[in-house]
Amino acid sequence: MDINKLVRKNVQQLTPYQSARRIGGQGDVWLNANEYPVAPHFELTEQTLNRYPEPQPEKVIQRYAQYAGVKTEQVLVSRGADEAIELLMRAFCEPQHDSILYCPPTYGMYQVSAETLGIKTKTVPTTSDWQLDLEGIKQNIDTVKLIYVCSPNNPTGNLIDSDDIKALLNIAKDRALVIIDEAYIEFSPESSVVSWLNDYPHLVILRTLSKAFALAGLRCGFTIANKPVIEALQKVIAPYPLATPVADIAAQALSKDGVNTMKLHVVNLNNQKGKFANLLRQLPIVEKVYPSYSNYLCVKFQHDKDVFNILWHQGIILRDQSRSIGQQNIIRITIGTQADCEAVISALKTIK
Ligand code: PMP
Repeated sequence: MDINKLVRKNVQQLTPYQSARRIGGQGDVWLNANEYPVAPHFELTEQTLNRYPEPQPEKVIQRYAQYAGVKTEQVLVSRGADEAIELLMRAFCEPQHDSILYCPPTYGMYQVSAETLGIKTKTVPTTSDWQLDLEGIKQNIDTVKLIYVCSPNNPTGNLIDSDDIKALLNIAKDRALVIIDEAYIEFSPESSVVSWLNDYPHLVILRTLSKAFALAGLRCGFTIANKPVIEALQKVIAPYPLATPVADIAAQALSKDGVNTMKLHVVNLNNQKGKFANLLRQLPIVEKVYPSYSNYLCVKFQHDKDVFNILWHQGIILRDQSRSIGQQNIIRITIGTQADCEAVISALKTIK
């Protein structure tokens, strides 16, 4: 029996998200998933695993609301920001009829989630300096219910101009939600748009504990939006989206001490990023190191050098961007420990 014939047509055609773990590789230096390079230590305090967890654990919601400077009713917690990306589509888009819009090069899950759900996608590539093409978005907004904008953007590392985000919110008014994916915002906290929530009922912000909080393995993310949006998402989320140990550790990570530790990590990582970028700029094979407001660098190499594969075979696993729109000869490198960065520099020095 050909099981594939039973699979939904759009899933048959779907190219799944090429996550760092799916791509694989073997090595000692992992700089391809924008993870924090050092594991934090936590002890479980909740031992009530015979019981279902709270659907929206109160302590996690309260602490995240306090950390983000919003009301508890404006926060939803989910299995990573990835789940939130999809929940928005499930709550707001009619399959086959409504569309989402996003601006490549950007995070790949907006497309994969939409294709999985049978929701149409519209793409308006960014301008050459990786900013929004507002005119292009305006011309494509028919049938669009959700506009996903990532800032700082993955993979490019730049911030989206805040005046352009305001202009986009005005274009989308009464038509669509504008979702600002702030997965990396802790590395440039002053650029968050969270304080705009009261002015824009259609603004949605995505956050995660996977990056600056060093908890990618926890699978815990947040949606921040006004109450009507959160209530719509509550309708479609799984009954118990967060396992008890996840909520337990998330609450600890969001305690006063936890947030202070995260802030220290950000200072160290941003210093490390500055030093690493300077060393990269001195290498002849490096054409450009783009400014980064996140925990990774976008680096353009000379076109005739097979940098990604050479380092891959030395067990240094980076993220090849060269097949993405406008990303020829670009590699995304997560900021690792000092030793990780030194290993990259040493390996690059041997490429002639
Ligand atoms: N948004 C962006 C821009 C990301 O880079 C990622 C993680 N790769 C996510 C969302 C998903 O984060 P999470 O681990 O919380 O699902």
